[in-house]
Amino acid sequence: MGYHRNVDADRVILHVDMDAFFAAIAQRDDPTLRGRPVLTGGDGPRGVVSTASYEARAFGCRSAMPMAVARRLCPQAVVARVSRDAIRQASSHLFTILDDLSPLVQPVSVDEAFVDLTGSKRLLGDPVAVARDLKQRIRDELQLTASIGVAFNKFLAKLASDLDKPDGLTVITPTNLHDVLHRLPVSRLWGVGPAMQHKLESHGLRTIGDIARHTEAELTAWFGSIGEHVARLSRGLDDRPVVPDREAKSIGQEETFPQDIDNPDEVRRVLLAQCEQVGHRLRKQTMHARGVGIKIRFGDFQTITRQATLDQPTDLTDELWLAARRLFDQWTAASFQPVRLIGVTAHKLSASAQLTLFPDAQRDRLRRLDRTLDTIATRFGRGAVHRGPGK
Ligand SMILES: [Mg+2]
Repeated sequence: MGYHRNVDADRVILHVDMDAFFAAIAQRDDPTLRGRPVLTGGDGPRGVVSTASYEARAFGCRSAMPMAVARRLCPQAVVARVSRDAIRQASSHLFTILDDLSPLVQPVSVDEAFVDLTGSKRLLGDPVAVARDLKQRIRDELQLTASIGVAFNKFLAKLASDLDKPDGLTVITPTNLHDVLHRLPVSRLWGVGPAMQHKLESHGLRTIGDIARHTEAELTAWFGSIGEHVARLSRGLDDRPVVPDREAKSIGQEETFPQDIDNPDEVRRVLLAQCEQVGHRLRKQTMHARGVGIKIRFGDFQTITRQATLDQPTDLTDELWLAARRLFDQWTAASFQPVRLIGVTAHKLSASAQLTLFPDAQRDRLRRLDRTLDTIATRFGRGAVHRGPGK
């Protein structure tokens, strides 16, 4: 890929996004579903589609659409149940592969990440060949397809990964930037929702090219600070860094379920597994957290968050779990509803202290347990062993 002598264009960012992740796993694991329209999501009266296979998308089915609407559009669609273990395993396998490419991997969701290859360019060679090999490795090892965008910043990489789904590989360079970007509708700009789209259109700005023809000063005069934002994006400028866990302000793990979960104990088990992963990631980066938060989303997309501050910073799974479980139990005691998404976040991060002022036998025991489980997880994969949720 040819680069202009422009600071921005020296970066190489991949955006990796698995195709119809849940539905693709359902089709992979049940051969009778291959080639057929498959939906995942809530099948109840208020159920919502979480993923539609590409066969179902041909009928107009989309994620976030009410399941009843999707079934009307495509009556022959199969609503598949997907095992959460299969999802978790595929996700952690994907991230193991990405971690091989660069230390700068920013997870966006279970099936999506940014990878900064700028520093690995000399070692790995042509980024487009790297992306092609990556797709092949994902296909070989996971029997799933990914779409990848290659560009010189995050905005363009994410845009690119979406342009040729499924199984796409799209490269945006300074040379083809205008051809690719300018014809797209303004809604493709990062941060432009329906309200902003309406405002832009009321000024006659329908495509990204329309915006790029105006100066930043004009756009700021019309739209305020977001005018500057869209001006920069329309010119292909975005200097947001790829932020891996070790530089992040928080480390979190969340999971959207293929079906809403109506059993609180089942949600607790997922929450515990997430605390194990967050603890593992903290320990890997030698970080401690002073804050723990949980996020709960219901079937109707309403979302609540709860935060707690710990007495002392920790990287121990057990202490994270205790705090997260207490937050969850407080919520369930007040009002439990079926859960669409659960997540846990460790925040108020600091580098781990080298010395413990007061030796603490209980914490030493927990630390040894974490170390043992981390070793097993690294050698045999996450999910090889779990601690019990306790009571
Ligand atoms: Mg995806």
